[in-house]
Amino acid sequence: MLTDYHVHLRPDEPDTTADRYFTAANVERYREVASERGIQELGVAEHVYRFEQALQVWRHPFWVSNATDDIDSYCEFVRERTDLKLGIEADFIPGAEDRMASLLDAREFDYVVGSVHFLAEKALDMDEYSIWDGSSGPEEIWRRYFLTLGEAARSGLFDILAHPDLVKVWGSANPRAPLPEGDLRRFYELAMDGIIESGIAIEVSTAGLRKRAQEIYPAPSFLSMCLQAGAPIALSSDAHVPQDIGYEYEAALSLLDRVGVSELAVFSRRERSLQPVGARVA
Ligand SMILES: [Zn+2]
Ligand SMILES: [Zn+2]
Repeated sequence: MLTDYHVHLRPDEPDTTADRYFTAANVERYREVASERGIQELGVAEHVYRFEQALQVWRHPFWVSNATDDIDSYCEFVRERTDLKLGIEADFIPGAEDRMASLLDAREFDYVVGSVHFLAEKALDMDEYSIWDGSSGPEEIWRRYFLTLGEAARSGLFDILAHPDLVKVWGSANPRAPLPEGDLRRFYELAMDGIIESGIAIEVSTAGLRKRAQEIYPAPSFLSMCLQAGAPIALSSDAHVPQDIGYEYEAALSLLDRVGVSELAVFSRRERSLQPVGARVA
């Protein structure tokens, strides 16, 4: 069994309207690549902030400019016109847990992927609203990121913790967003209590290989800490185009093999089971 659950049906760009991308023909393109790559369990997880209902949760200007679609039309499209699992990528917004829970619980998702893209009003992985342009150094930003990640896990809102060390997205070559020095496990440690208490599945995401980070999320040492804590593993590419389905899964599978992961988390209507990792069909 191979999964790709954290998949977007369209790029994160203006004009990528639901009309153009939530179509059976577009889904067929994703399905074709998935089947070429031996991925049986395919699900979509659109960004929550692209739906107008998300503005009941948070009114960040980035969300206001993106919230154009109807979440129930999305759910209906995936359920009735595709054979994909129905997921969503929802941001963790501290203080808005009840409002996010209402939005999520009102729909029958197979799974919810939880992300930390923002620390308060500032974004980790976008040029716009960038946290890296302010006065905080990497030490402080990493601390706040992993503390927030632990809270996201503990919130119980999510089934899968997305791209768990997203804070490294800019890699080491970007002087604007340098990595902290020394052993990074002091940061990972800040999220571990929440991860352990929640039992949330940890996403192994090959998206980091497409970014300046040039490394799978999470780093091997963080992944090992999660495994020692007994966390289940979910495998995804965070594709935003069909050709990125199963992106660099050879690298992910060899990492999983190296750290002794033999089962992947599979979800249906927010119930989790574990299935043996299957070989990728080349
Ligand atoms: Zn994300
Ligand atoms: Zn994503």
